[in-house]
Amino acid sequence: MLCQHVVEKVMDEKTLREAGYRQYRGSEIDVWFNLNICQHSGNCVRGDSRLFKLQRQPWIMPDNVDKATVIRVIDTCPSGALKYCVK
Ligand code: SF4
Repeated sequence: MLCQHVVEKVMDEKTLREAGYRQYRGSEIDVWFNLNICQHSGNCVRGDSRLFKLQRQPWIMPDNVDKATVIRVIDTCPSGALKYCVK
């Protein structure tokens, strides 16, 4: 499965895992996050608090919104710390 971010090259899941990304599974789309790359801009939590909520475990819940919303919000991440994999 190939994973995407609008400004970055496509990576496969094995490469993401090796690069330090953690997987957050959804039924239609998975989200991957790498804290070491995050620039703490807050675009994700401001983009949709149903999807990204810091005071929650897990803080990323892809099934709380539709697939298009996951893609739209992740494409606003300036660092590449967030990626998505459409199933
Ligand atoms: S939008 Fe990206 S860089 Fe900004 S806080 Fe969220 S994960 Fe980090």
